[in-house]
Amino acid sequence: MAEPLFHRGPGRIFRRLGTRAQVALCQLPITVIVAIIAIATPFAWPSLTHSTLYLAGIALHGILFLACFLVPWERLAHRAYLLIPVLDFAAIGFLRNGAAPLLPGLAVLVVFPVIWLSASGMLTRTSLVLSFVGPFLIMVPPTVTHLPSVTASDLTTVVLFPLMMLAVSLAIRFASVNLRLQQRELAEKDRELRELLAASREREKLLETVLDATDVGIAAVDRSGHFLVSNSRQRNFRRVTGADDEFPGRGHQLIYGQDRRTLLPPDRRPISRAMAGESFADYLVWAGEGPEQRAVSTAARPLVSEDGKLTGAVVVYSDVTGWVESLAANQDLVSNVSHEFKNPLNSIIGNVDLVLDDVADLPPHAAKRLLVVQRNAERMIDLVADLTASASTTMNVHPKRTDLASLVETSLGSAQASAQRSHVEFAADVPSPLWAYADPLRIGQVLDNLVSNAIKYSPDGGTVSISAEADAQWVSLSVKDTGMGMSAEDAARVFNRFFRAESARQAAIPGAGLGLSITRMIVERHGGTITCQSGEGQGSTFTVTLPAEGPPPSF
Ligand code: ADP
Repeated sequence: MAEPLFHRGPGRIFRRLGTRAQVALCQLPITVIVAIIAIATPFAWPSLTHSTLYLAGIALHGILFLACFLVPWERLAHRAYLLIPVLDFAAIGFLRNGAAPLLPGLAVLVVFPVIWLSASGMLTRTSLVLSFVGPFLIMVPPTVTHLPSVTASDLTTVVLFPLMMLAVSLAIRFASVNLRLQQRELAEKDRELRELLAASREREKLLETVLDATDVGIAAVDRSGHFLVSNSRQRNFRRVTGADDEFPGRGHQLIYGQDRRTLLPPDRRPISRAMAGESFADYLVWAGEGPEQRAVSTAARPLVSEDGKLTGAVVVYSDVTGWVESLAANQDLVSNVSHEFKNPLNSIIGNVDLVLDDVADLPPHAAKRLLVVQRNAERMIDLVADLTASASTTMNVHPKRTDLASLVETSLGSAQASAQRSHVEFAADVPSPLWAYADPLRIGQVLDNLVSNAIKYSPDGGTVSISAEADAQWVSLSVKDTGMGMSAEDAARVFNRFFRAESARQAAIPGAGLGLSITRMIVERHGGTITCQSGEGQGSTFTVTLPAEGPPPSF
């Protein structure tokens, strides 16, 4: 829609002028024309210099123009200045009738006061009456002089000319009504826009307050890396990392990997990963250095527009320093305690072994008791070994090309006796050979643990089946039992240290909840994965996936 006239430059200038200057400006066009006619009169129409009426018309125009400046309109009644266009009619009447018939066209000058009155905003009726009556009174005197022999042309002039001016006035009225409607519409839109702006500012403030109240850092970035939103926590993380620019992911930043010492390459920083469209959770990085260094768990989700295009990302930062430190302290404690247990236990086992070497010399009840001591001490040393392994953060694996089929065979062989005792049968469907890139000792340990669990948690007997699947990249081994199983929630936590499922505790099956956490650690050190699927009373399936091939040899 076109912008209304008064919103543009000239309108604004006009409104800034004082009332007198405004009135004078409205009167200026007609004054200029009358002044030109007055100057031309002695040369063009010398006879008119003798017409008193004509000269009175010119004089009155001059007086009216001066009055525009001299009268203090701002102190008078509202729109008192409209007297000027009304008096213009008189001045034009004098001018026109004084100049007739030499200069008949001067009546046309009434168009100026008619326009002024019609556009002035005065009452429509008044402006219409004035626009008709003014020209009518100007045209009447010459016609009266023709009385009684008035011609049809006289009558036409008297009626037609005022009617034309009435039409001009009407047209201006319509145009200004339209203009005012447009202005009102525009003002309404302007108001709505202001309201919307205020509401959106309020919402922005609310969002900022909510974001700052949360104890996680939150940042939203667009594709080019500008921050759309960020809260105080996130800004704090950036301060700790020494990020001094407004553009995330660029420049030098103190963001370290898990070892707390190796700087992450820029494309591995959480924001860079998020900007590349990655979606992740629990990505642990270390921000800053020295005593200020914080462990930060990060998560990201891409921002996608309605038409499915990637528009940016949201990244969330949680300070998990306390959690990571207490975990490390916990691990230290477990590893120290288990280390301290090892020597006395070895000494107990050694001494009991020595005494039991001469078992024939011992009274039978003492020998029986010593065998119990030996069994339990051996159980404890196994437990201590598990504790040490589970607390260790540096488990070494030495993978090489290994036949998993033979490991399965060995594992099932050594578990055969305990399976028979528990009325468990084995079924293996593993192609031989089945090559994987694995540490045979460690993967043997994994299989032993899975098979022994499968037997242990099948107290009523059943079948333990081992199957395999392989493609060019990965080899999977599944150990499936028909035992007691566990709930899906327990199955999701089964690899946590010290976790024991409800079903195992209810059935009072002994265990420390360490074997599977060690198992997972071994598998992950190989770059593989382990999963558990189970249901209460429906048996369990543990699936280990390992790389089929090692990294290509480097020459
Ligand atoms: P432990 O057997 O010494 O308790 P694990 O780490 O080997 O420790 O296992 C952790 C828990 O997972 C067990 O306590 C048991 O509740 C559950 N679990 C493991 N394997 C099975 C299985 N095959 N069937 C049912 N529950 C199992």
